[in-house]
Amino acid sequence: MISVFLGAPGSGKGTQAKKLSTKTGIPQLSTGDMLRAAISSGSELGVRAKGFIDNGQLVPDDVVIELIRERTLQADCKPGFILDGFPRTVGQAQGLEKMLAGLGRRLDRVVLFSISEDALIERLTGRRTCTACSAMYHIRFQPSRVEGVCDSCGGTLVQRSDDSLSVIQKRMNVFRDQTAPLESYYKERHVLSVIDASVSPELVYNQLSSLLH
Ligand code: AMP
Repeated sequence: MISVFLGAPGSGKGTQAKKLSTKTGIPQLSTGDMLRAAISSGSELGVRAKGFIDNGQLVPDDVVIELIRERTLQADCKPGFILDGFPRTVGQAQGLEKMLAGLGRRLDRVVLFSISEDALIERLTGRRTCTACSAMYHIRFQPSRVEGVCDSCGGTLVQRSDDSLSVIQKRMNVFRDQTAPLESYYKERHVLSVIDASVSPELVYNQLSSLLH
């Protein structure tokens, strides 16, 4: 099954995609994770992407379409994949459609994670990530046992550079202007399902499981 998880930053689509991927063995393809890995490796792509990410802007369509195209050609994507954070513009959605048609495949389902902007801001400003193992925490909803230290590996917890309030506000604007139009794009193609992403991760996962089975 090929699915797209669509939602504003902080809507929990990444957490749910990871969980679903662990349970089903279907890989999660996150363009955000791929871009951050490129930044850490110091590659040319990473250097280019960092400026956009730190500013809360989208990386150009051609760059992310190519990242996804290369990744989906790998053997583990044969049974399907979960696209997390891609597409984020109508141009990317069209690029994806073309790419899948070229491979003789098609998109099975798009899941929209629906949640209010106020809830998103609270989630994002409190989010902390382990620099060593990428485990995620929240200073209020899911604190680590020792402040600033990862429970699983002892690594240091940091706030993502694009999770500051000013950058979050920019990312919300980008979502409203460039990504939200994908809701009607996919509705017209009869592949869209909407889930309530404001509830606990367990309840979101329950909605997701009943949808995808
Ligand atoms: P995420 O981890 O999905 O919130 O992505 C973090 C940042 O990476 C975004 O704010 C964008 O700057 C960039 N990014 C991730 N995915 C995409 C995409 N599909 N198109 C353009 N930029 C992206």
